[in-house]
Amino acid sequence: MRIDLHTHSTASDGTQPPAAVVASARQAGLDVVALTDHDTTAGWDEARDAALATGMTLVRGTEMSTRYEHTSVHLLCYLQDPADPALATELETIRTARLGRAREMVDRIAADLPITWDDVLAQVVDGAAVGRPHIADALVVAGVVPDRSAAFTRVLHGSGPYYVPHYAPSTTRAIELVLAAGGVPVIAHAGAADRGRTISDTAFDELAAAGLAGIEVHHRDNDAAQQVRLGAMAARLGLLVTGSSDYHGLGKPNRLGENLTEPAVLAAIAERGTTQVVRP
Ligand code: AMP
Ligand code: ZN
Ligand code: FE
Ligand code: FE
Repeated sequence: MRIDLHTHSTASDGTQPPAAVVASARQAGLDVVALTDHDTTAGWDEARDAALATGMTLVRGTEMSTRYEHTSVHLLCYLQDPADPALATELETIRTARLGRAREMVDRIAADLPITWDDVLAQVVDGAAVGRPHIADALVVAGVVPDRSAAFTRVLHGSGPYYVPHYAPSTTRAIELVLAAGGVPVIAHAGAADRGRTISDTAFDELAAAGLAGIEVHHRDNDAAQQVRLGAMAARLGLLVTGSSDYHGLGKPNRLGENLTEPAVLAAIAERGTTQVVRP
């Protein structure tokens, strides 16, 4: 069983529509794929229809933007009730904050480089969660950089002059919201030092006490030492271990299936989640 539990579509900052992500997952030889767009469930219906039509098993979720003290933490949440009012409202608040923040970043960038807000909006599917990758795409179209990765290293990185943070709830609060919505919360790429700060062992104690279900250990942004550390932490705290690609289509080098999750872990997630896994 080849199971990849973290991908993005044009509902957030991936380059393929949800149905195309499901089709690509099948082509890549996966048995199970999870769609986990940033701060939205907008891709869920299209992905379900595609999974049923093509015979893929599909786990639906969201990658929620959160903050632990001053550290940005991405919280994967699986199989929640997408209509839960408290979680849906919080996700909408984050998406609105993303929009204002992207505008502010573009204002700053436009002082030095030839892009406008309309150029960025032209890269965003209606209603999608807006992120730096959309600004990157506008910079590519403007001929400033060759691709998204270059845009991140040269213009959009977190320590650069154009960077603006956006609102995100505390990780503990997000875990509470996800659990109340019947979802299964898993910390994404927690050892990704290149993305900025990472959270400490004591932070994991606190998040486990709040009901964290798992840790995404096998991810290209967690180096070998971090994977050992996170695996030991999961064992100590009795948490699930997941692995995934964090596929973004053509926008990132990450390939579907480059890291995988054990079937027993998927079974545990399926058992805890409120929404059913889509099975052909
Ligand atoms: P934001 O969420 O707006 O802060 O933008 C950061 C997101 O961009 C991360 O979640 C990454 O997954 C995504 N991203 C997509 N393509 C790239 C890339 N080539 N380099 C770095 N990050 C990327
Ligand atoms: Zn992303
Ligand atoms: Fe992430
Ligand atoms: Fe992601």
